[in-house]
Amino acid sequence: MSIVPSIARMNDTPATIKHFLDAALGTERLDAEVLLSHVLDRPRSYLHAWPERPLTPGEQSRFMSLIRRRRAGEPIAYITGRQEFWSLTFDVNRATLIPRPETELLVETALQLADPIGSYGLRLADLGTGSGCIALALAHERPRWQITAVDVSDDALQMAQRNARRLGIDNVEFLWNDWLSGFSANTFDIIVSNPPYIRAGDPHLHDIRHEPQTALVAGPDGLDALRRIIAEAKTCLKPNGLLLLEIGHDQSEAVNNLIQAAGYTGIQFKRDLAGIPRVCAGWAR
Ligand code: GLN
Repeated sequence: MSIVPSIARMNDTPATIKHFLDAALGTERLDAEVLLSHVLDRPRSYLHAWPERPLTPGEQSRFMSLIRRRRAGEPIAYITGRQEFWSLTFDVNRATLIPRPETELLVETALQLADPIGSYGLRLADLGTGSGCIALALAHERPRWQITAVDVSDDALQMAQRNARRLGIDNVEFLWNDWLSGFSANTFDIIVSNPPYIRAGDPHLHDIRHEPQTALVAGPDGLDALRRIIAEAKTCLKPNGLLLLEIGHDQSEAVNNLIQAAGYTGIQFKRDLAGIPRVCAGWAR
């Protein structure tokens, strides 16, 4: 081979794909594979097909620096700048929450429950859009819906817009806004949100410390954002409009009380794959 990796020469070990994957100790094998395929800009199957392919010194050092970041606890999605959601690829950065599998339940429920409303010209708002994953997944499925995605973070909005462009989606408008303030009454058929819902000081926050705290933390009981959205959506939804919220693993009782008290009807909770009530739906009357 013309490329003789310097590290290999020094240590007398073959600096192949296989060698570097085996040597990435302290990192999950899958993570190491994802990071190496990111460095090589090839699918993971390539690593399995060419285990003896040597790495150039540049590839070696880039891979090792990504492995160091991973060992320091940085999420894979921030290292690669990408996350799959609803079978679409989203760009993510530290301004945006990393899309989670359980949030696909929100998309699925919106598609199910929207059917009776009819599709043409339906207006939907996604509050706290972040990477835009919910708004863009829905827009991808329902190109005739008119979708408004709002966020208070300019950086997040930029990222969401970039995702819309890359995915070729043109039925979502992006707007800087504080939840629903300033929107007129009777504007939307559907309002969806995956708002912050974690209690300030919750020990779980340590595990997700790399993600934006404003997208995660909502006051001492974790319900600050949900309270505001439930109240404001009651006005901004059209008669028979639908509110859909992602909630925390232990919040179904509290959210049920809030949404009942606000006068919504037909309230239901959908369980995620772990069996936890994760999405709350209610109809404004
Ligand atoms: N589900 C996320 C977590 O607990 C939090 C998302 C959110 O606050 N909306 O890791």
